[in-house]
Amino acid sequence: MKDNLETWQRIQGQASAAGARLIAVSKTQPDVHILELYEAGQRDFGENKVQELTDKFQRLPKDIRWHQIGHLQTNKVKYIVPFVHLIHAVDSFRLLQEIDKQARNNQRVLPCLLQFKIAREDSKYGFSLDDAISMLGSDAFQQLQHIALHGVMGMATFTDDEALVRAEFDNLRQIFLHLKRDFFSDSDTFREISMGMSDDYPIALEAGSTMIRIGSLLFGKRNYD
Ligand SMILES: *Cc1c(COP(=O)(O)O)cnc(C)c1O
Repeated sequence: MKDNLETWQRIQGQASAAGARLIAVSKTQPDVHILELYEAGQRDFGENKVQELTDKFQRLPKDIRWHQIGHLQTNKVKYIVPFVHLIHAVDSFRLLQEIDKQARNNQRVLPCLLQFKIAREDSKYGFSLDDAISMLGSDAFQQLQHIALHGVMGMATFTDDEALVRAEFDNLRQIFLHLKRDFFSDSDTFREISMGMSDDYPIALEAGSTMIRIGSLLFGKRNYD
């Protein structure tokens, strides 16, 4: 446990030196492990399953900021919208519309990030830059009053090839800058680049990440995914 806290402190230090926030990815972790980091001062936690996220929200301290980091099914949006802090993995306009609808019902404006497909491997989820540009320019997008886009999110290829990972993170930053310039130049809140996990976060921080999502390095290996 002491080792965990030392690791947390080290990563926390690296993140804040780079101007980034550390999201502790607590999926599959029992409450005691979460509370240990909470007591040390960690407030941002990430989960990828709606049921687990909702259960943990109900049991754990109410000042935790919960991040939905994994793929989100449209029919499950309603369970997390009342309390979630940030949805990282918005990968379709249909999902964004549903978040908007549920956020309206809850009288809130929900911060979201657009997920981009940056990895070489064939991942199922995420926008291409062209798709995002046509969505952001559409009338239908302008109708959405209860979501606020705060930036972008992506996952690099799972590989030892650091040059490839770096190129993919650089690409995500270019996408962010492009959207910032063309659609969000007036927005103070479109400023997040969520990238970097246990194996590649130092590269992500160098490439301009503002949010690193770290699980196994903080908590040890997961039993299941
Ligand atoms: C599990 C997960 C992480 C954390 O992964 P680690 O390799 O354990 O740090 C980050 N982002 C997403 C989307 C995840 O699902």
